[in-house]
Amino acid sequence: MTELSANFLLAANPVITNPLTADPAALVYRDTVYLYTGNDEAPDNNHFYQMKKWLCFSSTNLVDWTPHGAPLSLTNFVWASSDAWAGQVIERQGKFYWYVAVTAKGGKAIGVAVADSPTGPFKDARGSALVSNEMTTATKINWDDIDPTVWLDADGQAYLFWGNTVCYYAKLKENMAELDGSIQTVDVPNFTEAPWIHQHGGIYYLSYATGFPEKTAYATAPKITGPWTYRGLLAEFAGNCNTMHQAIIDYQGRSYFIYHNGGTQPNGGSFRRSVCIDYLNYNADGTIQRINQTSEGVARAVAQWAPVTEKKTTATTGARK
Ligand code: CA
Repeated sequence: MTELSANFLLAANPVITNPLTADPAALVYRDTVYLYTGNDEAPDNNHFYQMKKWLCFSSTNLVDWTPHGAPLSLTNFVWASSDAWAGQVIERQGKFYWYVAVTAKGGKAIGVAVADSPTGPFKDARGSALVSNEMTTATKINWDDIDPTVWLDADGQAYLFWGNTVCYYAKLKENMAELDGSIQTVDVPNFTEAPWIHQHGGIYYLSYATGFPEKTAYATAPKITGPWTYRGLLAEFAGNCNTMHQAIIDYQGRSYFIYHNGGTQPNGGSFRRSVCIDYLNYNADGTIQRINQTSEGVARAVAQWAPVTEKKTTATTGARK
């Protein structure tokens, strides 16, 4: 299949404009992409973030998205007071774990919710913060415990990375709801926030928001525990928005950069954001080419189910849905 097939229809960015979606995380599960976002509800861009719940959408082509409502909200965490900020969902042994940042007593904190389905409903997995402000002291700010990203390594060990101005990580126990061992820091330059861990071609990638307004930088490593080598920027500023927050996935033979900008009109902006998707391309040495942030978005992803050379073997080729 090429992009110039019958399915050559572009998504247009932002891909979701109503409701307003921010801080995307994506999970590929059984040939479906699940997109998890925050929900900006500030009335205009003179107000700070107003975020009370998290949203879920799914797609099998990255162009057409099915909303699944808000399977998780602040009310699910009785110990949290406000700020349904960025999170990520991961699957382990048929359960889905959603790590999120919220405000709690003492500052920002990380909670974890669990569900039997990628679309929820999710419930608090422990009834308290997984990470609270006093557990991390590499900086004196009380908003350093945000933006969790979670990784399940091939040996079955799970890791949580998070942070603001300092990038922290720790092992997770097999129940995914408790830290296992001490909290470590990752030494990467100009780390602002929004870490995202992924793997491609046997290389580990740690991408993150850098500077402010934010761009996206990244580092690579041979193992999840490092050592991390800084590789530079992979994305410039997001349009009309002072934050950048990325998810990176492989799906149906291509790689994608999922982020937000302030492009929805009228009244899009730093506190009224919307999710966008563009292609991400690797060089042969594993470095990442600079993202081309487009208004056109990506073409419909098509299942990579058969080599082109076998295309004329039967009349029913192409019938798979
Ligand atoms: Ca802290």
